[in-house]
Amino acid sequence: MPGFEIFGEEERKEVQDVLDTGVLFRYGFDAARKGHWKARTFETELAKRMGVEYCHLCSNGTAALCIALAASGIGAGDEVIVPPFTFIATVEAILAAGAIPVFSDIDDTLCLDPQALESAITPRTKAVLPVHMCGAMAHIEDIKKFCVQRDLVMIEDACQSVGGSYNGKSLGTFGQMGCFSFDAVKTITCGEGGAVVTDDKKLYTLADAYADHGHDHIGNDRGLEDHIILGSNFRISELNAAVGLAQLNKLDFILEKQRAHKKAIKDALAHFPEIGFRKIPDPQGDSATFLSFFLPDEAFARAASTSLADEGVDGCFYWYVNNWHYIRQWDHFKTLKSPAGLPITLVKDRPDYGKIQLPKSDDIMKRTISMQIKLSWSVDELSQRIEKITKVFQKIRK
Ligand SMILES: *Cc1c(COP(=O)(O)O)cnc(C)c1O
Repeated sequence: MPGFEIFGEEERKEVQDVLDTGVLFRYGFDAARKGHWKARTFETELAKRMGVEYCHLCSNGTAALCIALAASGIGAGDEVIVPPFTFIATVEAILAAGAIPVFSDIDDTLCLDPQALESAITPRTKAVLPVHMCGAMAHIEDIKKFCVQRDLVMIEDACQSVGGSYNGKSLGTFGQMGCFSFDAVKTITCGEGGAVVTDDKKLYTLADAYADHGHDHIGNDRGLEDHIILGSNFRISELNAAVGLAQLNKLDFILEKQRAHKKAIKDALAHFPEIGFRKIPDPQGDSATFLSFFLPDEAFARAASTSLADEGVDGCFYWYVNNWHYIRQWDHFKTLKSPAGLPITLVKDRPDYGKIQLPKSDDIMKRTISMQIKLSWSVDELSQRIEKITKVFQKIRK
């Protein structure tokens, strides 16, 4: 899964370019930087790769979500529909905007269920924020159709799915804006980094300004730049962008490796009729960072999770009991634990997150295990892994 597994000479070279000039800032210093514009080059290349007009590279994926929400005009009191299976960053970005996260069930894609969205709508609903979890896609066209019909903004959290696509179109390019993360454990990494992409010039201009205190980035004298809006600082440094640039050039290699490794494990698991696989609406567009599968019931899944760990199969996640990606264990969120209090606590009739009930999502998550797909496995490591996994499932079936 993570690009850090193949960190090498290419990353060193790009970083060295920046060190040699001493220009760590992404804007200005035109003469001193000797033609090196790492952030800007990354933006051009990612936009080309995604088939979109505009890309803004920023400090991290959470920042990308904050920027996309702000540029889309989502703020105080607006409701944003999100899945309960995501990373807490999605929810934090909504809360930081002063907006209200509203949870809607997932389906067997492990992403938002388009059929369930209607029941999450209220007069305050402004946006839907689908998350393409664990490397693969939601029923994104159906979700988009729903948003278009109801005049809702759609922002995609594609932080875990860079390189994924649906019917040949890149994930992150279906909504008004798409967000990516290049943190240390993502498919490609800047160390810390993120990006927003869009085809809408106005949204891009707002995003680009919002991420840098509202600067319009016109001309090369920062003192004379206009401030088109109030913003914040979500800038990336040239050093981080340089790492990302080298990683972006490796994305196709990464995807190819992941897909081959995933296929080998999936083929082995397919021998067990008890195992059902996550629905992937377009298997060809799977970025293959994870293999996720369903077991018949919670007891079976718990037993499998324990046996896989006992057998030494690392990188297996039973999200239902894991603190990371499923709402069930997010006590800090359910109690809105925050040092200064959050704007949402001022909202009348806000959801009581402590009492939230998502039985359909629970039923799916109780039975789901995800296996991380690594790039660095040797042929031997992969076959030993498959042997161990096979042994585990042979044992539990009895
Ligand atoms: C990683 C991640 C983020 C946040 O990205 P950072 O770069 O770590 O801030 C947001 N959403 C999802 C689904 C993620 O996996």
